[in-house]
Amino acid sequence: MKILVFNCGSSSIKFKLFLMPDEQVLAEGMIQRVGKEDAMASFKTPQCNFDINQAIADYPSGFAVIRDMLLDPKNGVISTLSEINACGHRVVHGGEDFSGSMPINDELESGIKSVFELAPLHNPPNLTGIQEAQHMFGAIPQIACFDTAFHQSIPEIAYRYALPEALYTDHRIRRYGFHGMSHRFVARKAAKMLGRHKYVVNLITCHLGNGSSVAAIRDGHSVDTSMGLTPLEGLVMGTRSGDLDPGILFYLQRKGYDADSLDNLLNKESGLLGVSGSSNDVRDLELKADAGDEKAALALDIFAYRIKKYIGAYLAVLNRVDALVFTGGIGENGIAMRTRILADMDQLGIIVDETRNMIHAGISGEIQAPTSRIKIFIILTNEELAIARDTYSLSSQ
Ligand code: ADP
Repeated sequence: MKILVFNCGSSSIKFKLFLMPDEQVLAEGMIQRVGKEDAMASFKTPQCNFDINQAIADYPSGFAVIRDMLLDPKNGVISTLSEINACGHRVVHGGEDFSGSMPINDELESGIKSVFELAPLHNPPNLTGIQEAQHMFGAIPQIACFDTAFHQSIPEIAYRYALPEALYTDHRIRRYGFHGMSHRFVARKAAKMLGRHKYVVNLITCHLGNGSSVAAIRDGHSVDTSMGLTPLEGLVMGTRSGDLDPGILFYLQRKGYDADSLDNLLNKESGLLGVSGSSNDVRDLELKADAGDEKAALALDIFAYRIKKYIGAYLAVLNRVDALVFTGGIGENGIAMRTRILADMDQLGIIVDETRNMIHAGISGEIQAPTSRIKIFIILTNEELAIARDTYSLSSQ
């Protein structure tokens, strides 16, 4: 069965074609700067790897470019569109309606639209991608996989903010959490590494990338996570502030900031970039810090400290933790960052083996010392494969 996975953003379309259940990647690619003169399409298969630069006016034109790349006999991927059996789509926000991946129908599309205002940058392009795929591939199963779904198991004490109830009932203000496909993917892999059933594990999963979040997982279910109503809450990120005193917002409003400038400040100008004043990339900041840049070193320390605090909080929430999991670009590759985060946690049962830590850059494995009560796993996440698996299981029923 051939399954095409889409991840559509406001100006980008990522796609990956899987042969299932073998989980073999037949082709993958991305279109960047959709709507611009200088758009770029990249395409890769086991046989070829190329880029095309051309104006791509809109989503339909982007999908046409993808179709042509898939069908081009030179690329040897497919010879007719009817070879694609199903499509899986990443959808960022599922609100409270979706606690798992779902086949797309009219009702589900209305559900995605009903949370447009909670994810205005993500859900509209996600839905456009779904509609384009429906148009292009006709009556094959289309499956929506929500970033929020895995966190729908979070209990009310963790998802409610201490605000008047009407803000929850009338405006849907609560913690939803994101990165759910990744947290679930690594949680299932961690259960396998522990030799346990997927619902008999307690874990703290740290997805550390440009966007970062931590999840507390009890018996295989998410019971708390650091992102909230939006992906701004929680950890320090590349350009996002994460947690801060809400008093800062009205203090700044009185100084002339409006909603849009605050949004820009906290989402695009803060985090590692804001503190360092120079970069949102951990690798750059490590080089700068090594060369004596104190602001870069401070940014890295603040980033690591926030993660350490969340790990401590979730140890308290879970009481028993079998493994701490690192994933995402920084979690998987950031040897020095993991050392920063895990320093001085021996009394909590977390002791890293530095030799194992050093060799686990971009490879899955265990990095705890033999004396560590809690295991420490590096697990390479694969959100597209998680979507392909859900799409396969829901469309072959
Ligand atoms: P996204 O959230 O966009 O999917 P990724 O999970 O790919 O992002 O993570 C990207 C980040 O991973 C980069 O910004 C960079 O800071 C970090 N990263 C990648 N490689 C390394 C490395 N070797 N050491 C430290 N950080 C790294």
